[in-house]
Amino acid sequence: MGLCDLNTIRDVLGRHGFHFSKSLGQNFLTAQWVPDRIAAECGADRSNAVMEIGPGMGCLTLELSKRAARVVAVELDRALLPVMAETLTGIENVEVVQGDILKTDISALCAEKFDGMAVHACANLPYYITSPVISALIDCRAFESITVMVQKEVAERICAAAGTSEYSAFSIYVQYHTEPEILFGVPRDCFVPQPKVDSAVLRLVPRKMPAVSPQDEALFFAIIRAAFNQRRKTLANAVLAAFGGRLNKAEIFSLIRSVGLDERVRGERLTLSDFAALSDAAAVLLAEKCETAAVSQEMRD
Ligand code: SAM
Repeated sequence: MGLCDLNTIRDVLGRHGFHFSKSLGQNFLTAQWVPDRIAAECGADRSNAVMEIGPGMGCLTLELSKRAARVVAVELDRALLPVMAETLTGIENVEVVQGDILKTDISALCAEKFDGMAVHACANLPYYITSPVISALIDCRAFESITVMVQKEVAERICAAAGTSEYSAFSIYVQYHTEPEILFGVPRDCFVPQPKVDSAVLRLVPRKMPAVSPQDEALFFAIIRAAFNQRRKTLANAVLAAFGGRLNKAEIFSLIRSVGLDERVRGERLTLSDFAALSDAAAVLLAEKCETAAVSQEMRD
């Protein structure tokens, strides 16, 4: 019986006195095709390694270990360590590290454990920390690819195009650094306990170069945050507040027009290229006013 079999899960967890923690996002897979397919599509092979986040009982870990040269799995819940000592017994190429992935120096852990091998990240992520974990996995620049199961709506938001209601500052951040793709959906009845939402498996392939090349990346993201913090306002009004009076409305209208956009446009309609063009134009204008550094610092705070 595999580690997704419901009777096996109940038997093993029962013998260890384990109880699911909602606050740790513990929804374990009960459909074997899911870890099989994630392992098959995450890029793991004998020439590379995988870092897994949140192995739980080890159902995905086991499938990854059949494909990758080495698997290191970071699990926060100490109560799962004796469980995995049983379920992963005798699997030589797996190491479980107890810790909080959000407090882990991921690059240092990869350097320590993988000895220069190419590494893929893989996870059935706990819902409560999806965005910070994805950001940490992108920011550490340690991975060839990042394949994660997340809430279906989050996957759709990450891949959303400009002008749609799902498009957000986080979509832009992820699309700037990676090429995201939804691989397949996973219905809620594939988990125990059953969550209230469906899931999807998302693959992010880090770009060698960002999708666009703004002159001042901090200013680029500051404008994006300002635009989406007040997404019901026009871009001009949202950005006006964020510029704290350093640019007046006429100057902001003129900036927006200078990049070929209507001055009444909303931020959610701008593509990454539009935001890059706008931030470059703003950088020039602010430099003329010798205020770029002060503004990007203020908008970041
Ligand atoms: N991989 C297993 C599966 O697919 O059945 C379990 C996935 S479950 C959705 C998420 C797992 O992440 C749980 O084992 C939970 O204890 C673990 N976890 C939660 N927060 C974590 C954190 N901050 N760092 C590392 N693991 C965490």
